[in-house]
Amino acid sequence: MLICLFFAIYPINDFRDNIRLVILKSTKAMIQRKTISCKPSRRNLRLICYFCGEVIFLSNMNKAIVISVIAAAVLAFRVEAQEPVYLDEFRAVFEKADAEISEYYRTAGAEERITDCPGSCCRAFARTPVRIAIPDCPQAPELVAMVEDQGCIPVLLPGREGMENPTMELRKSSIGWDGVLMPEGWVSFEDEYSLLVYKTVTDWNVPYLGTSEATMLVDRGLRRLPCAVSDVAGLVAEAGIYRKARNLMEGIFTIDTHCDLPEGEGYRNGTVSVGKRNRSQCGIPKMDEGGLKAQVLISFLNQGPDDEEGWAAAVERNLRQISEIKADIESNSSLCGLATTPQEALALAAEGRKAFFIGLENAYGIGGDLANIRKMKELGITYITLCHFYDNYVCHTSSQHGEDPSLGLTPFGIKVVREMNRLGLMIDLSHPSAGTFWDCIKYSKAPLICSHSGVKAVYGHDRGLDDDQLKALAANGGVIQVYTVDNFLRREAGLTDIYDFMEHFNHAVEVAGPDHVGIGSDFDGGGGVIGLNGDNDMVNITVLMLKHGYTPEQIEGFWGGNFLRVMKEVQSLSGR
Ligand SMILES: [Zn+2]
Repeated sequence: MLICLFFAIYPINDFRDNIRLVILKSTKAMIQRKTISCKPSRRNLRLICYFCGEVIFLSNMNKAIVISVIAAAVLAFRVEAQEPVYLDEFRAVFEKADAEISEYYRTAGAEERITDCPGSCCRAFARTPVRIAIPDCPQAPELVAMVEDQGCIPVLLPGREGMENPTMELRKSSIGWDGVLMPEGWVSFEDEYSLLVYKTVTDWNVPYLGTSEATMLVDRGLRRLPCAVSDVAGLVAEAGIYRKARNLMEGIFTIDTHCDLPEGEGYRNGTVSVGKRNRSQCGIPKMDEGGLKAQVLISFLNQGPDDEEGWAAAVERNLRQISEIKADIESNSSLCGLATTPQEALALAAEGRKAFFIGLENAYGIGGDLANIRKMKELGITYITLCHFYDNYVCHTSSQHGEDPSLGLTPFGIKVVREMNRLGLMIDLSHPSAGTFWDCIKYSKAPLICSHSGVKAVYGHDRGLDDDQLKALAANGGVIQVYTVDNFLRREAGLTDIYDFMEHFNHAVEVAGPDHVGIGSDFDGGGGVIGLNGDNDMVNITVLMLKHGYTPEQIEGFWGGNFLRVMKEVQSLSGR
């Protein structure tokens, strides 16, 4: 009631993007606690945020309290009320399947485990013609003929009868799919088999012929790419590119350099783990589906007061988060390991295990003490983002919450930069101001990174880099990792899709050059757009890279070669 009143009174155009992001984070935590079983739509969040932006703007009260009280009030009655109705119908099927997949990862041995294409099966994929899967349905003979007419190999899916665990049997068979042909109108809420087939198709982003009403609904619910293929010839073409993308990703090292998965609370109540497949955008099962081999997990700290008390709390929280991340990696050690150097990450990938680096987002977490930087290094941190949405004792922020983005490092910040150089820690300039960026170009002896950033030329958000910065970053030998945060990519948040991401990406490549660009999703921290909404969607980026005409060598650089090169250089300069 109150919400509607405010919403009616205050115009929505003046809302502030950054506040929206803070709310995204806090609402996400609340959603997890309330165990609402799927994300509220972006539209909901946008309404909440417009509203909160206005309240904060007008009231000047303690922002955190206002945000959480209002967001809680809004969530209490809004999220469930506006949840798309159709999700309820297959939520149970999908969640049960995700639980089975998590259990399978927990218990299956390395030999037995389904990954994208372990070892030899990958070579088997380097094939033409492509293989098009057909589900068990009365029209199957007709569909087989259609596939054969296109010069492709039809693959009949396991039938609906006699399967002990349909989720896992369909997943195992999915290793052989390049595309899927389902009859018109075949996916239905009443037919669990059809939903499981559809779940497998969408989990792995396999191209499919999709025209049925139910498919469209499921599509919107899962925020897939808006373009289902509409004819068989188109499907065959897409399937060929998809296969190429999968093969390519299997043969190279692939890393996403910024993911906020480890929220302490999630670890403690058991909802979050790298070993699980659930509503989190990340995790090992989704990494397998998307062709991702490594990720930087983030210990994130909101900016608090820069005083002794605030610093002590920040250090304590940071240490706790790092130990929780490490404990989770350890408890999934048959599937993954902690990496602190490029060599360690490549060795893990060669064993078929995922490599997790750890990054600290916000130097607030070193608590005003240079000695803590060494401690971070010893704990396995590989990079530190110097600040977040607020100025701190190290530097100024790019966000409008800061004093002036032309201001840069503080005198203490200059010492931090030198100490990080000395210890071989990467300096992350996503979030810091332009002033800080140019100060770091001046003071850092090692190349710099922007672990999750965008470009101003495509959309003039304060989290983007301008062309001069992109050129300077390239000259410095550094790298920009492009994010997937919808309202940082374009103005009309909620409509953003993977093509908007590619626009930022392609511009960065044009200006900085192909050796200085990569991917840093910011998943579980605000990242996620249509067609690129989790680790399992990463293959879609490779598909679009291939369509754009990038070479396999360039794609290898984008997916990790560039980032590892910078890490190697930063680490090799340490101690000098
Ligand atoms: Zn961030």
